[in-house]
Amino acid sequence: MKTYYHFVRIVLLTATLSILLPERSVYSWGFYGHKRINRMAVFTLPPEMIGFYKQHIEFITNHAVDPDSRRNMVEGEAARHYIDIDHYGPHAFDSVPVFWKQAVLKYTEDTLRAYGIIPWQIEKHYYKLLEAFKEENLDLILHYSADLGHYVADAHVPLHTTENYNGQLTNQKGIHGFWESRIPELKAEGYDYFVGRASYIESPIKAAWRVVKDSHSAVDSVLGFEAALNQQVSPDQKYSYETRGSTMVRVYSETYTTRFDHMIEGQVERRMRAAIHMVGSIWYTAWVNAGQPDLAKLGQKQVSDSLNREPVNTGSTPSQNTVGKGHED
Ligand SMILES: [Zn+2]
Repeated sequence: MKTYYHFVRIVLLTATLSILLPERSVYSWGFYGHKRINRMAVFTLPPEMIGFYKQHIEFITNHAVDPDSRRNMVEGEAARHYIDIDHYGPHAFDSVPVFWKQAVLKYTEDTLRAYGIIPWQIEKHYYKLLEAFKEENLDLILHYSADLGHYVADAHVPLHTTENYNGQLTNQKGIHGFWESRIPELKAEGYDYFVGRASYIESPIKAAWRVVKDSHSAVDSVLGFEAALNQQVSPDQKYSYETRGSTMVRVYSETYTTRFDHMIEGQVERRMRAAIHMVGSIWYTAWVNAGQPDLAKLGQKQVSDSLNREPVNTGSTPSQNTVGKGHED
């Protein structure tokens, strides 16, 4: 009998804890957003590329979240997903050198890594993809295309460009997941994903910086509008509870999400569309600069088993004690 009561107590305690736990963000764009961005980017590609990418569209889609899965396994991975640009002062975009080598000379590599390296990561992965195209290496083309799509998408998220990445400095904790996971989860089915054709990018590093700058210019409105809405709404209207698997989680309510989405006037959709266009454009640019290899020839090859075994995130949330620190919610 004693054991039974002990068991009941544990069950009740677990239930209470899970209700109290706020929903943890799955880092960037959520699984849904990342997968959707990589998938839709395929449709921006020119005729010489689209057949190949469509053939591998499931791989490109499913592996869009691999870099997040690696965050807790690979040293240094976490810093690749963001940049706390405001750490570098009010004129950060003039202060931080565009190119990695100059930036290292000015700030040291340790400092850069401590505050995130996303623009340089995009450039680095762009060159890896370009090399893969030159070598006509099917596995690496797919692997780097999927990864590059992830980093480009992350750079489009305003809260990936600030030290206040989860509203933790302004008493708005949870806003990170709210913007990039909860809003897409409720609204993205209705988004317009027709973004036109991929275009050639003259300078991937400069393009990456432009994206970071655009994202950062939206930070004040994201935080400001949420703070204003929070003033107008009581906590029981702000949150609701939903079952995820066997867990009850606290989420931003549908009403609150819709009101916020109206206030920021479709900003999430705009950033998602911009991300899709840039992902397609950077794949296209790598292919052009590699000398436009014949992808139809590659289409007959099989993806190796080891590549298919690359981490595909199952949806579990990584633990807090991780190798890579930074921007954890
Ligand atoms: Zn990420």
